[in-house]
Amino acid sequence: MGKEKVEDTRFSRFGVVSFTALTKVNDFVDYLEQGKLMGTRCKVCGKVFFPPRADCYSCLSSDMEWSEVKGKGKLLSFTKLSYAPVGFEGELPYTLGLWDFGDYKVFGWVSKEIPEEELEVGMEMVPRVVKLSDDRLLYEFVKA
Ligand SMILES: [Zn+2]
Repeated sequence: MGKEKVEDTRFSRFGVVSFTALTKVNDFVDYLEQGKLMGTRCKVCGKVFFPPRADCYSCLSSDMEWSEVKGKGKLLSFTKLSYAPVGFEGELPYTLGLWDFGDYKVFGWVSKEIPEEELEVGMEMVPRVVKLSDDRLLYEFVKA
């Protein structure tokens, strides 16, 4: 049981590169191509997960459906990185944030359009899908 309660957030930390390793949630990338940021919702208990999970750690169901991240998120915290995992060195420096969408939280990049001094906890932001130079897809947050 203890094992089931550990939320696996590894691929949110390492970005789009690692999403492809999770065969059950590969559709995430297809949705990004359509400009949609998706999490999953448990059809049994209604819990929403981001990053998307194939199994619900709350009720242990595997009956999940896609659920679009919609509306505004409130910035809970952010941090500027000067070190990046392999594959992201070219993007440095960048800022990561965590947003509260009510029932769930979303981890992601803060758009470089936003000067760091304008960022403040509590500000409302929305996700936006962007294509990077080498055809990778990513989502970032911009002002709502
Ligand atoms: Zn559930």
